[in-house]
Order: sequence, then C-alpha cells, then structure tokens
Amino acid sequence: MDLNLKNKRALITGSTLGIGRAVANSLLAEGADVIINGRSQSKVTQTIDELKTTQNNSSKISGIGADLSNHSGVNDLISFAHSEGQVDLLINNVGSFTVKDFFDIEDSDWHHIFQLNVMSAVRLSRAFLPSMLKQGWGRIIFIGSDQSSKPNPSMAHYAMTKTAIVSIARSLSELTRGTEITINSVQVAPTWTEGVSEFIEDLSKIEGKTPEAMSRSYFEEGEGNTSLIQRWAEPEEIAKVITFLCSPISSAINGSSLRADGGIIRSLF
Ligand code: NAD
Repeated sequence: MDLNLKNKRALITGSTLGIGRAVANSLLAEGADVIINGRSQSKVTQTIDELKTTQNNSSKISGIGADLSNHSGVNDLISFAHSEGQVDLLINNVGSFTVKDFFDIEDSDWHHIFQLNVMSAVRLSRAFLPSMLKQGWGRIIFIGSDQSSKPNPSMAHYAMTKTAIVSIARSLSELTRGTEITINSVQVAPTWTEGVSEFIEDLSKIEGKTPEAMSRSYFEEGEGNTSLIQRWAEPEEIAKVITFLCSPISSAINGSSLRADGGIIRSLF
C-alpha cells in the first residue's frame, strides 16, 4: 500500500537508536525525507551513514546532534530543521527512563526528565505547528508508554512525563479543528531497544539476577505480566504504527491516545 509519504519531511527526536531510529528508517522507506537527532553529532553522522546503506530511494537524510534536555539544544534542532525546509511530520520520540525509588528521586531528576520528555515536545510543537496550520496539513505524534495510564512507584517521575504528553497532545489537537492536521499520542509497549537493554541490566543488578533472568521475570511476574503478547515488541513493529499515523490515510484519527502496547493495559478503552 502506498502511504503517500513521498516529499513529506519528518523530524524524529532521539532517532539514532531504538524506536526513533526504526521510525526514521520506516519513513525513509516510504519516501519521506528525514531529519534525525541524538545527543552526539558523531552518532548522528554514523546513523545517517548506516541508514543510507539500506536506502532504496533518493530521500534526504540529515540530522544534528543536540541535547534536547535544555532550551538551547532544542533551539539548535529547530534552527537546523528550519534550514532544511517545512517540517510536515513531527515525532516527539525522545525520552529517558530510569528505575528509582520515589524517596531517591531528587528534585534535579524530576526537572531533568520533565525538560527532556515533556518540554522538548512542547518546544518543538510550538515551533512547527504554526507552519503546519498555515499549510493546513501536518502530523504531530507524541510517543507515550504503557506507563502513561498506570501508576508506577519505582518510576514515578517517568510515568508523570508519559501521562503529561498524552494530555498535551489532546490539548494541541484542539488547535487543528477544521484542518487536515492530526495530533495524537501512542502508548507504546515494552520494546527491546538499547535503552531497555541498559534498563534491564540496571534492574538485574538491583534484583541480583542475570539480565536474561530479569528479562524473563519481567513478563512472568513483573510489570509485563499483563502483556498479551508476552514478549518485548520490536522497534520495527512500533515504527509501522507510527508510520501509518504519519500518513494521509490515517486522517480520521485525531486527538487520540492510541495503544500499540501489546495489550499490557487491562482496560477496555
Ligand atoms: P533509547 O534509549 O533506545 O534511544 C534513545 C535515543 O534518544 C538515542 O537516539 C539517544 O541519542 C536519544 N537521546 C537520549 N537522550 C537525549 C537527549 N538528552 N537529547 C537528544 N537525544 C537524546 O529509547 P527507546 O527505548 O527507543 O525509547 C524511545 C521512546 O519510546 C521514549 O520516549 C520512551 O519513553 C518510549 N517508550 C519506550 C518503551 C520501550 O520499552 N523501549 C516503552 C514505552 C515507551
């Protein structure tokens, strides 16, 4: 199926690894130009080179290393994207996650995770939504989590950010009334990425298990117990959902919080 994404330009935050990278790759395969981002310029350059090796079209891949946990890093990304042209698709993907007992989460941890997971998305939406409104077409997608809709005392700061972006996405969607712009959030399943691999390693040290045993017990008796798929999702599975949402054929979905969560949330709606 042609998803009609040729000649669209996408900006995907946190896209040198994991879900963001898989989204960049998937949009690229559909003929969109992509702007990627990660913390370091060298990793961005390396990722661009790697994506080019599997590319089967002439879509443009560019990118910039910019730390999105602060205003100036976000501004650098905004300036870079403006120099590339109109951003039609904004995927607010970047997000960090750590396990920490509530009593050990310092003020600085709360501030940092809010800046990165929430404010980067706010700042980028503020920068790119006006030109989408002007042209009457665009997509903004906020990457949420199964943690968006459930409590988690060992990741209270992370869960807060993932709930916040669902609310922000819904509020912003109200600004798209009568246009062909859609703004949605996606509650993503536990997905095997580099970030999760590190996360499981940290958890395994706390629990005194091997990473393999920790990964298994996550689904057998841990947070993943309610997952219907009983495994980590692959980044490419999530990327396909995001790519569909980016496409013009998803036009009836606006202001939604969708789930690509492997059924982990035990709720009807
Ligand atoms: P990851 O940790 O594997 O990838 C991290 C990417 O973000 C890299 O490109 C890295 O350079 C970039 N990044 C990290 N900090 C940055 C910063 N300060 N500035 C700029 N870039 C930065 O991440 P992932 O597992 O692919 O997760 C992507 C998104 O999906 C996150 O928002 C996460 O909360 C969400 N999510 C992930 C899972 C999961 O199980 N992997 C589940 C639910 C939701």
